Amino acid sequence: MIYDAIIIGGGPAGLTSALYLLRDGRKVLIIEKETVGGTASSTPLIENYPGFKAISGSDLTSIMFDQVDELGVDFEIEEVIDLKVDGDIKEVITEDNTYKTKTIIIASGSSYRTLGLPNEEELIGHGIHFCTACDGPFYKGKDIAIVGGGNSACINAYNMSNIAKHVTILQNLDHLTCEKDLVNKLESCKNVDIIYNSKVTEYLSEDDALTGLKIETNGKEETLKLDGVFLNIGLVPQSKFVNGKLELDPRGYIVSEDTTTKVPGVFVAGDSRTKKYAQITIACADGTIAALDAINYLNK
Ligand SMILES: Cc1cc2nc3c(=O)[nH]c(=O)nc-3n(C[C@H](O)[C@H](O)[C@H](O)COP(=O)(O)OP(=O)(O)OC[C@H]3O[C@@H](n4cnc5c(N)ncnc54)[C@H](O)[C@@H]3O)c2cc1C
Repeated sequence: MIYDAIIIGGGPAGLTSALYLLRDGRKVLIIEKETVGGTASSTPLIENYPGFKAISGSDLTSIMFDQVDELGVDFEIEEVIDLKVDGDIKEVITEDNTYKTKTIIIASGSSYRTLGLPNEEELIGHGIHFCTACDGPFYKGKDIAIVGGGNSACINAYNMSNIAKHVTILQNLDHLTCEKDLVNKLESCKNVDIIYNSKVTEYLSEDDALTGLKIETNGKEETLKLDGVFLNIGLVPQSKFVNGKLELDPRGYIVSEDTTTKVPGVFVAGDSRTKKYAQITIACADGTIAALDAINYLNK
């Protein structure tokens, strides 16, 4: 079987591309390594997606998926590890399968950045988390820290102040970089402390679960006893599988001005592409453009 298009990633960009291609009568496969909906699906409340005054990310992306499912998309849960992009028939390679296709749309988004300290990998899910909407309720009445000081970190800290007993924000700069309104809200929370100029130096653990952090603040070391830590220090593009076949910028984003790449028939949409803003509406717009470009390519 040779697909008209294989879409890598089942987030808003990939699902929108699939919608346009399927409505054009194309045979489409989405390969997704985790769950439908991508990063957007873990967002508790979305208030800036037109047509919905307020909706959870998982509800919004479930609707997007139902739409393409009804149109007959093929869907596989597998991780793409390599591509062959030479020639008219291209290959998308996973651990167990090689899929053939005339076009590829990369919509693999980005994932949470980690600190890269020893133990981190093992403690993820055992005291180290990223998404307060997903894992925050486990820390009801407990002591947690949020690492980071941008919008995501501060929104999460504010939300967690209503769930946890105490929230410590660990920011490596001397100020928070989130919106001013949020700074004011956090400063008025009795159970939130902000430690500026701090660097996490070690994860402390017992019986394979996190028990605290060692931090260094202005050169002074201290230990924080904690039940959980949420890392909100930005995102990294998921582009490892490109393996030098497309141009990446220094941060690892696939270079593209308009969703086309230097390889004919290979397109990139959403958060994995070089661009200024990462939003669901933008990912959907990218998905549309990439699909229309792919249809034009297929019609040639
Ligand atoms: C905490 C947070 C809150 C946010 N809140 C909002 C908001 O309120 N409004 C808004 O508009 N935007 C918000 N955003 C941004 C928005 O979620 C993203 O811009 C959007 O999800 C990007 O869509 P995407 O399809 O490009 O990528 P993603 O949603 O990241 O989807 C990419 C998908 O590709 C999959 N994938 C990656 N690599 C592979 C591989 N090798 N093989 C197979 N599959 C792979 C991933 O598992 C993922 O499901 C928020 C982001 C975060 C982190």
